[in-house]
Amino acid sequence: MTARRIDGKAAAAELRERVARSAAEFERRAGRPPGLATVLVGEDPASAVYVRMKGKATAEAGMAGFAHHLPDTVSQAELLELVEELNRDERVDGILVQLPLPAQVDSARVIAALDPAKDVDGFHPINVGRLAAGLDALVPCTPLGCLYLLKAELGSLAGLDSVVIGRSNIVGKPMAALLVAESATVTIAHSKSRDLPEIVRRADVVIAAVGRPEMVRGEWIKPGATVIDVGINRISSADGKVRLVGDVAFDEAVQVAGAITPVPGGVGPMTIAMLLRNTLVTAHRRAGLPEPEGF
Ligand code: NDP
Repeated sequence: MTARRIDGKAAAAELRERVARSAAEFERRAGRPPGLATVLVGEDPASAVYVRMKGKATAEAGMAGFAHHLPDTVSQAELLELVEELNRDERVDGILVQLPLPAQVDSARVIAALDPAKDVDGFHPINVGRLAAGLDALVPCTPLGCLYLLKAELGSLAGLDSVVIGRSNIVGKPMAALLVAESATVTIAHSKSRDLPEIVRRADVVIAAVGRPEMVRGEWIKPGATVIDVGINRISSADGKVRLVGDVAFDEAVQVAGAITPVPGGVGPMTIAMLLRNTLVTAHRRAGLPEPEGF
């Protein structure tokens, strides 16, 4: 028997449609659409693609987009000035500073300068702390998307053995905090973990966020486990074509797992959907309206 494919593309499309309906309702009540500002620095092609995709999704959801593109020679002071301006701008409900930033800029200082109420990426220390403390927080979009898929698949996660492979601030750590909040039993594995295959074999839920193509093998997976593959790795095949693979050897794992996300079409589309969701939520909070339901 092969695993169920968890269709992140369909889940993201459904979520984005609901966000768009709620954004239209928000505009009727608040007299303006929810607004998302993006800040792109320099010409990194991957960052430019991400920001463009986010801008397109913002427009499709009926939200206002405010795109700022600065040269990679920008000074720290100039960037902080822009952040302050966006913090003050009443039309802006969410601010996204695309990382990485150039070397002359201290990313941590820029993130700390964001208004935590507009921090739709959930990277500000206040939101990180609130998540860790189990308080209501703005949560990073990728782990939030993973949790959404997991709950849609499994319902309650209480008591499940879960392993998060990777401990980055963007994916691994917030993912682990979310799973703890759902009362799962959580192991965080990383490059220093001993006997990773054995750790993974115990898990009912596996989240792979490593950045190593097909590192997690099928024989590591407990039969019936739910596997969420966050990895996005570009590899060149023998014929010279570039293809995307995850951190999990999909063809092997699909024979063993109960359910699994493909790459592409799994976690990736959920990240942008959750960015729109977070912007919808901050817009309601800032306008003093009740939280939108069902998100
Ligand atoms: P980072 O490079 O920041 O973190 C990778 C983590 O994996 C680290 O904690 C590292 O351990 C761990 N690791 C590395 N090698 C091993 C190993 N051999 N065994 C066990 N653990 C290991 O990556 P990110 O968290 O930012 O991203 C992870 C992946 O997810 C990437 O492929 C990225 O492209 C993808 N991604 C996808 C997104 C999406 O929208 N779908 C969004 C964000 C990321 P240590 O801490 O010890 O170094």
